[in-house]
Amino acid sequence: MKQKQDTLIVTLGRDPHANFGVVNPPVYRASTILHPTVEALRGRKQPYTYGRRGTPTTVALQQTIAGLEGGHNTMLTPSGLSAVTTALLSLLRTGDHLLMTDSVYGPTRHFCDTILKRNGIETEYYDPLIGAGIERLMKTNTAVVFTESPGSITFEVQDIPAIARVAHARGAKLVIDNTWASPLYFKPFEHGADVSIQAITKYLCGHSDAMMGAITTNEETWKSALSGHGALGQMAAPDDAYLVLRGIRTLSVRLERHMKTGLTLARWLAARPEVARVLHPALENDPGHAIWKRDFTGASGLFGVVLKPCSDAALAAMLDHLELFGMGWSWGGFESLIVPQDLTGIRTVTPPKFEGPLLRIHAGLEDPDDLIADLDAGFARLNAAGN
Ligand SMILES: *Cc1c(COP(=O)(O)O)cnc(C)c1O
Repeated sequence: MKQKQDTLIVTLGRDPHANFGVVNPPVYRASTILHPTVEALRGRKQPYTYGRRGTPTTVALQQTIAGLEGGHNTMLTPSGLSAVTTALLSLLRTGDHLLMTDSVYGPTRHFCDTILKRNGIETEYYDPLIGAGIERLMKTNTAVVFTESPGSITFEVQDIPAIARVAHARGAKLVIDNTWASPLYFKPFEHGADVSIQAITKYLCGHSDAMMGAITTNEETWKSALSGHGALGQMAAPDDAYLVLRGIRTLSVRLERHMKTGLTLARWLAARPEVARVLHPALENDPGHAIWKRDFTGASGLFGVVLKPCSDAALAAMLDHLELFGMGWSWGGFESLIVPQDLTGIRTVTPPKFEGPLLRIHAGLEDPDDLIADLDAGFARLNAAGN
């Protein structure tokens, strides 16, 4: 029987009867793994050969993520960023050209502008809304087209199928950072991706207490990516893998609530006199809404808000005294977050012109009425502080 997504969330990566009936896979902590004979040691045919190469706990997580993303298999890394850097280092070599969306996660850009540049790999940033127009940027040495949709901080929705068609026609790989939608709300391999990256740290973990990344690939790309991952010594710890497996079992119900509360907040904010615009692809008047609706099956709880111009002091009066919204990096946990964002240095081709300060909000699992009351009090402080 082919299981539906919400069933797979429960069943993938679990085999209770292989573990005395225990529901969850146990944590196997390992460096050394013993081989019974010289033949077994030399043959490397055991399913597990060395801690860095994986344990039953990390493999259970790999299988779970691969099944949800719809890819061939998954590799784990110690952070979302290391998943990005490992994938790029595995797919690129000196002399290659990389097309990178201008809306990419800032640390990904930093990696391209430092390590890749130093190693003779040229990164060219492109307009996230370019779609099939990416054709005119393709060069004979373009090896990877990197996408992230919606874009970090600014939430532009990319036409992934159109970009993938061009990339493949020109012999390049299509990589997507699929963290915002999680594997539940965007199926990268059905839309032409060769490689999908998850910052597991966000929704898959879901509890703000572990960091990890995943690289999932199609069958064709698996060997080269795995070889780079192994050469770089990448791995994830079994205790963290256990936490993430536990988090994933509730991913579907959590995300539904993040989406619902996020939309409630987004609509309330859009109607506020202090707000210039809300950046949320699930809002009907968002420029990315049509493509979002075509390609995604849901929205996460992360979105942007552009305020009308106000002083730094007024902004601080609003944000410094929020009770429920915490100020801190990352997102995807059960708690609500808000951070002022600065695009300086992280948009080079298509810098957006925003009316005033940009805030990034993560809608957590609290009651939306309480969250609205918290923001409402914040706006009262902002207004009282004057301009
Ligand atoms: C957070 C994030 C990452 C990096 O994940 P870490 O686990 O913090 O290294 C990569 N891509 C996107 C889109 C992210 O939001």
